[in-house]
Amino acid sequence: MKVQIIPALQDNYMYLIIDEASQEAAIVDPVDPEGVASAVQQNNVNLTKVLTTHHHWDHAGGNAKLCKKFNNLQVYGGDDRIEALTCKVKHDDTFNIGGLKVKCLATPCHTTGHICYYVTADQDPPAVFTGDTLFAGGCGRFFEGTAEQMYAALIQVLGSLPDETKVYCGHEYTENNLKFGKYVEPQNQAILQKIESVHTQREKYCPTVPSTIQEEKLTNPFMRVHEQSVMDHAKQTDPIQTMAFLRREKDNFKA
Ligand SMILES: [Zn+2]
Repeated sequence: MKVQIIPALQDNYMYLIIDEASQEAAIVDPVDPEGVASAVQQNNVNLTKVLTTHHHWDHAGGNAKLCKKFNNLQVYGGDDRIEALTCKVKHDDTFNIGGLKVKCLATPCHTTGHICYYVTADQDPPAVFTGDTLFAGGCGRFFEGTAEQMYAALIQVLGSLPDETKVYCGHEYTENNLKFGKYVEPQNQAILQKIESVHTQREKYCPTVPSTIQEEKLTNPFMRVHEQSVMDHAKQTDPIQTMAFLRREKDNFKA
């Protein structure tokens, strides 16, 4: 499995997922169809599928235009509000990109129809495309859901994926997210170390994706709501209340 990171707009990421054996490819959240077209040409692949994480315009807003550029594209997603949707999916639905297996994970909260895509191959470590549910060091705003739902998404669904799973998220928000993480847990060495490495990457304008599920469990306060240090910061004894507190606090956090 090859994943090409394609930056778009201010801080969005599109991802070209390639099955190298068949040269079949899928694109995640193609908001910039021109950028997708040049990556497809450059890699000389057959683009057959669009994987849409959610209906927001900065993720789904390029779908219709991309479908005009490429014939017979199948557009996957979990929400009727998604532009040019052809294949509506739900939790645990599966499909293939050539020899790669894709499993749909419903993670409602940022939007009610949000889907993360878990992709596995025979040889390589798995990958998950998390849109605006899980970011490196953070999570999406609870626009259409509750702390209970984000807890289910981050802890029960994404948190049960193998530790080595690569995490490809929808935005480059890592540096600010880690500043909030440091504010929540000033003694967390994994966060302090990651702040250094991410700063070096961003100075060179390099993406800070992918992360891994293991890294997120060590550095992302929203995936650490069971930790005593995080619950103490939130002055809560319950992980879901801690999740709710952190989101409210992050919404008003100035790095
Ligand atoms: Zn969004």
